[in-house]
Amino acid sequence: MNDFQLTAIGHIQSPYKQKFAIPRQPRLVPQAKAKLVFAADFNREEFVRGLDEFSHIWLLFRFHETADKGYSAMVRPPRLGGNERKGVFATRATFRPNAIGMSAVKLEGIEYKNGQLCLLLAGIDLLDGTPILDIKPYLPYSDAMVDATAGFADTRPETQMTVEFSSSVLEFIKQQTDYPDLHDFINNVLKQDPRPAYKKQKEGEQSYGMTLYDFNIRWQVNGEHNYVTSIEKN
Ligand code: SAM
Repeated sequence: MNDFQLTAIGHIQSPYKQKFAIPRQPRLVPQAKAKLVFAADFNREEFVRGLDEFSHIWLLFRFHETADKGYSAMVRPPRLGGNERKGVFATRATFRPNAIGMSAVKLEGIEYKNGQLCLLLAGIDLLDGTPILDIKPYLPYSDAMVDATAGFADTRPETQMTVEFSSSVLEFIKQQTDYPDLHDFINNVLKQDPRPAYKKQKEGEQSYGMTLYDFNIRWQVNGEHNYVTSIEKN
């Protein structure tokens, strides 16, 4: 009765190729587009008939990259600077029993191409390859609670971070006509300040790298300023 086996109904194709730099919740970076590709057993239009009437959906998924790392009763939420501890069930931490995540994301379309059913999504916070366990329509009349309070996570995490691109990076981005949002995407990812909490307290210039789509991007952080120094295609 207490043990279950779950089957992925599909997988996410995401521009986020590693955990680092993924925003901590959905919709913080609206340019983060992804595809949900249905698994063979669910690859039929009947499964999603009527879903196009909804602007947003809930995704239930498995934190597959970290699921085997277990969990602790207490975690250190990044927005508390990594110093204070809260119970895992009082947080949206990835290291949790059952390793199940949930994200409300924008549904931009449903595609059935070359025999493959996909959902086109935006504002996602999911790693490439994330297994999807279930999909449900987002119901504003029930899910949006205007009087809700949220303690230590009551407001959208805002930073003062600024982002500047070197002229050669700007030139490169301009040429990537298949990725019209690339500049705004990188800009908004860096504005979220993806650094771990302990790095934010460090003085002096720090250098970081991330991969979005198949672009390797490097930047330097000095105080509250990000300077994107290089970008290249894999
Ligand atoms: N919105 C979800 C929730 O509340 O359940 C996820 C919140 S969790 C704090 C967001 C982080 O999960 C991201 O910043 C990323 O580092 C991590 N993440 C995303 N997809 C993952 C996956 N498939 N496996 C492990 N970690 C993942």
